[in-house]
Amino acid sequence: MIDGAIGGVPARELAATYGTPLVVIDTEEVDLEIDRFMRAFGARGIAVGYAGKAFLVTAMAELLAATPLRLDVCSLGELITGERGGFPAGRMYFHGVAKTAAELQAIADRRVAFGVIDNAEEIERLALLASTQAPVDVMLRINTGIEAHTHEFIRTGGENTKFGIPERDAHDTIRRIAALPQLRLIGLHSHVGSQIVDVEPLVANLAALIPYADAARALGLPVEELNLGGGIGIENGPGDPRPIDLEAFAQRLATRAAATPYRLAIEPGRALVARAGSLLYRVITVKRQGSRRFVVVDGGMTDNPRPLLYGAHHPADLIASDAAGKPAPATLAGRSCENDEIGEYELPEDVRAGDLIAMRYTGAYTFSMSSNYNRFGKPAVVFVRDGTHRRVVRGESEEETSRFDLA
Ligand SMILES: *Cc1c(COP(=O)(O)O)cnc(C)c1O
Repeated sequence: MIDGAIGGVPARELAATYGTPLVVIDTEEVDLEIDRFMRAFGARGIAVGYAGKAFLVTAMAELLAATPLRLDVCSLGELITGERGGFPAGRMYFHGVAKTAAELQAIADRRVAFGVIDNAEEIERLALLASTQAPVDVMLRINTGIEAHTHEFIRTGGENTKFGIPERDAHDTIRRIAALPQLRLIGLHSHVGSQIVDVEPLVANLAALIPYADAARALGLPVEELNLGGGIGIENGPGDPRPIDLEAFAQRLATRAAATPYRLAIEPGRALVARAGSLLYRVITVKRQGSRRFVVVDGGMTDNPRPLLYGAHHPADLIASDAAGKPAPATLAGRSCENDEIGEYELPEDVRAGDLIAMRYTGAYTFSMSSNYNRFGKPAVVFVRDGTHRRVVRGESEEETSRFDLA
């Protein structure tokens, strides 16, 4: 018999108490990762922010509020979640590729410490909401043209993504900000990609920002910080070696910045929460179709969209089952009306309906990307820690999926 636990809580107990699918976050793992980042980066004077889009619910904001981390939000919804969790405004900042009027107003109202300008229009739009007496702090996101792939990077000239100000416009944009006394340019920002497993593009990104920061200071602007974004990659699953040595990476950055007047900052999302998350499913049926064995679970693309969106592979294990058979190939599939295959796995020959499966490393970009496709309710979220459990998001019932419909 298989009778596993998450954060010291038996999976059977979690499923019986809260139902499935269920998002389970081991907060001890989150704290461990935060400690790792603070020891490597914080100790070297590099500020660490958490990219809220990876996973943000009120209880997560509460947890983060008790740490030295900053919080990067990129929508009003994320900002409000931070506020509800008691996260201090002075440690939050606002990203977003195309901010709405209400989002710019939130920046002007100082519900965050600063906003990160992502397009030229935002400069004047924000300046109109601010006053000369109390200028609003901003950073400028520059697209340094560095495109990070898993093991290499290229400089594209900055034309391949919608994010940030292209390099060829950077100097002009800095001058436009300098001309507006309602804004104070306090730093530059550049985020070059996600799931990067080599530090070279990240170090090159720092080098690429320095000349722009120097140019801004030469205009008298108070640029003091360079934020290198997130993107720190993680291993495929428990037991695999970690692709990035945080200490060595932090040391490289600190050494590169030592001869400059700039403080550094980073803002990982995935690397802080992915490992802490498990998605608990119950098997509904096992089907043999053609040469394949489908193990169909009670969730899928609605609560776990990354496999279908970009071929992400999460490790999965049978965590509660009476199966005793040999491992054999199985396709894990969701129950939505799409071909929402979750991935290919080895599962016991006698895995059957009622068994529990845990998808690991699903703390990031999983719950935050969930949807109501097929009018499935979104799953509940439970924090576990050292044998205790606490529900922090109530799952949606089927009735609730039509709660905003007007008839
Ligand atoms: C998504 C994003 C991050 C976090 O990326 P991870 O890959 O989760 O570390 C940080 N900064 C910006 C601007 C982002 O868009």
